[in-house]
Amino acid sequence: RAKKKGRNTYRFYAAKMNAQSTEQLMLESALRHALERGELEMHYQPKLNLQTQRIVGVEALMRWHHPALGMIPPVQFIPIAEELGLILSMGKWALEQACADALAWQKFGLPEVVTSVNLSPRQFESRTLIADIKAVLESSGLEPSLLELEITEGAVMANPEHAAELLRTIRDMGVGLAIDDFGTGYSSLSYLKHFPLSTVKIDRSFINDLSQDADARALIDGIITLSHGLRMKVVAEGIETVAQLEYLRSHGCDEAQGYWLCKPVPADEARDFMARHLRNQFAPSVLA
Ligand code: C2E
Ligand code: MG
Ligand code: MG
Ligand code: MG
Repeated sequence: RAKKKGRNTYRFYAAKMNAQSTEQLMLESALRHALERGELEMHYQPKLNLQTQRIVGVEALMRWHHPALGMIPPVQFIPIAEELGLILSMGKWALEQACADALAWQKFGLPEVVTSVNLSPRQFESRTLIADIKAVLESSGLEPSLLELEITEGAVMANPEHAAELLRTIRDMGVGLAIDDFGTGYSSLSYLKHFPLSTVKIDRSFINDLSQDADARALIDGIITLSHGLRMKVVAEGIETVAQLEYLRSHGCDEAQGYWLCKPVPADEARDFMARHLRNQFAPSVLA
């Protein structure tokens, strides 16, 4: 009986794996054409300065509208793009699109906001990265200080010496540098201080645990204090409740982004959100 059960279990797994790899193959071949077919779109999530209560930036986040399957989340397609090397062209497109949208908002008359673009580790290794950044700044005409690049601890740790040199070059161009999802990797702030980073983004998991977990609070407090000591700005991601926002504000966190403020939205909605916020300061009763 045990043997029979084992075999059924095996067959079940085999079928499941087959279905998974078929879907995987489908996504892979579709992703190869996503960019040229215009299926990619950049969405933007506003960031709030917790002291001034102003929108001071947006994070650019890629979306893929698959013609049959609908919206595929980045956690699903970014790793495939990374594996197939497609992330290089997709990432370059993201950078161009984000800079173009940022410039359009400026022309529309919105106050200057910093636009942050995620860089994958693979892009970070690319020999053309610096040239790509220079080219996009030149062709868009966006001020370098209005662009920030978000990199992960992993990208830095893979080859620290190369990373340090790249980051110095980018910093010298006047572009901001943020370490994304901080706290999920194995690097420490005392190590990261050797790199010219301007911003630390506290990972969403710590914010999520904030209310139930004293350890998460201790970590958040520590990250804020240390980052400030090292002259870095702190951004909290994944703010979903007023309580989380209040905690971070009262503990000196500089900026926050999350569904509570605004979900990632298409460029024109982001523009409208920022324009509305200008007229009607965001939730003043909460932040007063
Ligand atoms: P990330 O850079 O850490 O981006 C933040 C993620 O948290 C986004 O997920 C955002 O939608 C989500 N988020 C923001 N506020 C909340 C909240 O209050 N609650 C919850 N539950 N989630 C929140 P998204 O857009 O699905 O992107 C996931 C990841 O995919 C990003 O994480 C980033 O690592 C990667 N990614 C997205 N766009 C790009 C891109 O253009 N290039 C590269 N290389 N990676 C990208
Ligand atoms: Mg990010
Ligand atoms: Mg993040
Ligand atoms: Mg994240």
